[in-house]
Amino acid sequence: MLKTIAAFDRIGEENAFAVLARANALAAQGRDIISLGIGQPDFRTPDFIVEAAVKALRDGHHGYTAANGILPLREAVAANLNKRYGVEVSPESVMIMPGGKPTMFMSILMFGEPGAEIMYPDPGFPIYRSMIEYTGATPVPVPIREENGFAFSAEETLKLITPKTRLIIVNSPANPTGGVTPKSEVDKLVAGLEKWPDVAIMSDEIYDHMVYDGEKHVCLLSYPSIRDRLILLNGWSKTYAMTGWRLGYAIFPGKLYDYARKLAVNLHSCVNASAQYAGLAALTGPQDEVVKMIAEFDKRRKVVVDGLNKLPGVSCITPKGAFYAFPNIKRTGWKAKELATTLLNETGVVTIGGPDFGILGEGYLRLSYANSTENILKALDRMGDFLSKKKAA
Ligand code: PLP
Repeated sequence: MLKTIAAFDRIGEENAFAVLARANALAAQGRDIISLGIGQPDFRTPDFIVEAAVKALRDGHHGYTAANGILPLREAVAANLNKRYGVEVSPESVMIMPGGKPTMFMSILMFGEPGAEIMYPDPGFPIYRSMIEYTGATPVPVPIREENGFAFSAEETLKLITPKTRLIIVNSPANPTGGVTPKSEVDKLVAGLEKWPDVAIMSDEIYDHMVYDGEKHVCLLSYPSIRDRLILLNGWSKTYAMTGWRLGYAIFPGKLYDYARKLAVNLHSCVNASAQYAGLAALTGPQDEVVKMIAEFDKRRKVVVDGLNKLPGVSCITPKGAFYAFPNIKRTGWKAKELATTLLNETGVVTIGGPDFGILGEGYLRLSYANSTENILKALDRMGDFLSKKKAA
C-alpha cells in the first residue's frame, strides 16, 4: 500500500469538468448536447493575440522567463490597472501566473493550516473550499443570498471573523451566481476590516470586465487601508477568451510576493513564454473584440433570464455580472443535482447543480450563457418541455 498524506483525501474538484466529460461522452455517442455547463467564453481568442504568440516563438522566445513573468507584461498589467481603476501598482508586485486558479492555490497555501480559519463565499467557486480543506484549515462559508442579488453582505462577513481568521476570499462579479457586490457594501466591508489588521483578503476579480446595467466594477486595490494585505486574482482567461492558454496574474503584497515567486520556482518555473507575449498584446492592443463579446453576453443574459422565468417552478433574478445565471428551482420539487443530471440524460442540456458550489447552492442550477442565443433558446425549450411533463421523483 502506498502511504500518501491525508490531505489528498480532502482535496476536492470542480464538478463542471466531470460534467463536461460526461457531456462529451454523450455527444460522442451521437446525442445532441447543448452545453450551458462549463464557464468559458464560446468566442475565439482574437487573432492579433494568437499572432503575437506565434511571433514570439518565431522570434526565439521559447526559453524560460523570470519566474515572476517578463517585465513588459508586468508593466502592462500595472498600467492597465492604473488606467481602469486609477490605482498605483508597481510592476514589482505583479506576478504572472499560469491562470487564475494558481493564485487561489498559492494564497490558501500561505494562510491555511490546522487551527486557522479561512472564509469563502457559498455558493462560490468550488476550488476555494477544496484548497482550504487540503491545508487542514477550517473552511468558514460566507452565505451569498439571492435576496441580496447574490452580492456578499459586509455585515454577515464581518460577523464571521474570529481571532483565528487568516484569510477572507471575496469574488465579485461572482461565479456561480453572476452576482455583483455594490460599492457601498465593499466600502462597509473594508471599513470593518480595519479592526482586523491581521486578516488577509484575496479578491477574485477574474470577471471584472463583465458587468452590466451600467454597474461599475469595484477593484479592491482602490482601498489604501487594505493594500498591504490584499491579494488580487485576475487573468486573461475570461476577458480575452483565453482559458486554454493558462495565463493569469496576481498582485501580492509585501513578503507574500516572494513566497509566491518561490512557489512558482518550485512548481512551474515560469509561465509559457509565448503566452506571456500574447498576454502583452491582449492588454496593449485594440479592445474592440472584448467590448463586442461582452455586449453579446449582455444580450444573451436577457434571453436566458426571460426564458428561465417562463419555466414552470423556476424563477431567476437578473445577474449583473460574469456570464452565469443562477435560477431558483425550489418550486419544481427537484433536488438541484438530480435535476441537472436528469436534464442532461433526458434532454441533452448541460447545467450544473448549485450544490457543486456549496451547501447553499441547493435549490439552484448554474447556467453558463457562453453559448449562442439559438442554442440557449433551444435549451430553454427543452427544459420547459421537460419540467412540464416530468415531476420530481
Ligand atoms: N475564479 C473564478 C471565480 C472562476 O470562475 C474561475 C474559472 O472558472 C477562475 C477563478 C479560474 O480561472 P483560470 O481558468 O484562469 O484558472
